Amino acid sequence: MHEGQLKYEGKAKRVYGTDTPGVVRIDFKDDATAFNAQKRGVIEGKGAINNAITAHLYPLLAEAGVPNHFLEQISATEQLVREVSIIPVEVIVRNTAAGSFAARLGLEEGLPLAAPVIEYCYKSDELGDPLVSDSTPIAMGWASARELAELNSLALAANSFLLGFFSARDLQLVDIKFEFGRLPDGTILLADEISPDTCRLWDTDSGERLDKDRFRRDLGGVEDAYRTILKRVTS
Ligand code: UDP
Repeated sequence: MHEGQLKYEGKAKRVYGTDTPGVVRIDFKDDATAFNAQKRGVIEGKGAINNAITAHLYPLLAEAGVPNHFLEQISATEQLVREVSIIPVEVIVRNTAAGSFAARLGLEEGLPLAAPVIEYCYKSDELGDPLVSDSTPIAMGWASARELAELNSLALAANSFLLGFFSARDLQLVDIKFEFGRLPDGTILLADEISPDTCRLWDTDSGERLDKDRFRRDLGGVEDAYRTILKRVTS
């Protein structure tokens, strides 16, 4: 395979074209950012860990009825995925109050929610991914009403599968961010990564945070936490 042309470089990955139309290669980086890239750093080994976690979870999610862009892991830090055009809406599902949700509502982190909460953020680095209402994506033409309903149901299905998956590995899925894309024919697929960068995972027994909050909040042991998640996910 040719190296392929760099199509896009994000904060945590690079996306390259391939010889196969409709297929792109993702290379996961060790770079980490937080607070809208005001905080920057490197988490040693993160690219390989997040690649491996995502490559493990996506086939299981497909089996669980959540179609996604993943095709194949091709190296420690790379995977092939179907090329989609990303819908500029982050869908966040919360099972437990934490982070910006807890802050906004004045809640203690760790409060269980009676039902999953869905939130939407507009994907814009410039604006810092602002929270938007559920009518905004439709009003702005980012997604049709039908598509938004599909994003909701796919996000809830993925959350429900992952809650059980992680719980069986002594991990509490606190919240998670999903991104979706469209194939040229309009089919919607779950895209991007699923990793400790994009969800909160707490050890069920100790409550210890095993996700990017260790980096965001300078808690130390970041690499160890990511390695722990990989080990439990693949166990
Ligand atoms: N999240 C993410 N990318 C973002 C913002 C949030 O992956 O740009 C994830 C985050 O890791 C957490 C969930 O979405 O699992 C909810 O994040 P929250 O809104 O609480 O924001 P934060 O407190 O991380 O700023």
